[in-house]
Amino acid sequence: MISVLSIFFGRIYCGFFCTWGAYQEWVGMLGGKIFKNRFDTLVPKKVDRVLSYFRYIVMLAYAFFATSFFTSKILAKLGGPNTSALVTIIFSRKVVAASVIISLCIFTILSLLVNRPYCKYFCHGSVEAGALSFAKIFKLRRNPDLCINCHKCENVCPMKVPITEMNTVYDRYCISCFQCIGYKGCPKKGALYLDMHPIKTFLKEKNKKHPKEDKINKVI
Ligand code: SF4
Ligand code: SF4
Repeated sequence: MISVLSIFFGRIYCGFFCTWGAYQEWVGMLGGKIFKNRFDTLVPKKVDRVLSYFRYIVMLAYAFFATSFFTSKILAKLGGPNTSALVTIIFSRKVVAASVIISLCIFTILSLLVNRPYCKYFCHGSVEAGALSFAKIFKLRRNPDLCINCHKCENVCPMKVPITEMNTVYDRYCISCFQCIGYKGCPKKGALYLDMHPIKTFLKEKNKKHPKEDKINKVI
């Protein structure tokens, strides 16, 4: 279900349905009130970019642990070390419960300082959903001719996507929440909009770039 949503609507699950994401956002609102302008300025842009790659490591670790029951048995059969005891300890109720409680505490504190820290730096699901969204039926676009550079869209964006630096929002952080085009977002009509016909727009742009080819095609 989540995979199908991701293919056609991008990371819409993160923006509308993920309770963990919503929790971080609510804590973040509190953090914004407490720390005012210092909220979300903790991580410099370059560090933020590097940290975002950590999600890939988490994805590999997740895949490793998810299959560890099987791989430990295969390893043992192949004459390798018997890791099934270790796997049983890792997945024991106590270890799992302790990990959940510790993670909850850590990410609650981090969410007071940074917007959606788990989504940005740890969530392997965000990597998978991003990779799956190849057939997204809409694109979020900015019209630079109409944009007045007021940055309201960026201020309201929970993921702090640098919208004004792009004409089409292709960002690893965009969670398709549409807050930037909501009532608190862009005030200029047509400056930021959802393009519901991205293929048509793509072909139009392509024809604009190759008008001669287009004419030849028409003649033929
Ligand atoms: S760019 Fe817009 S749709 Fe994407 S996360 Fe930011 S506010 Fe939401
Ligand atoms: S809110 Fe709209 S007009 Fe303002 S910077 Fe963003 S896209 Fe441009």
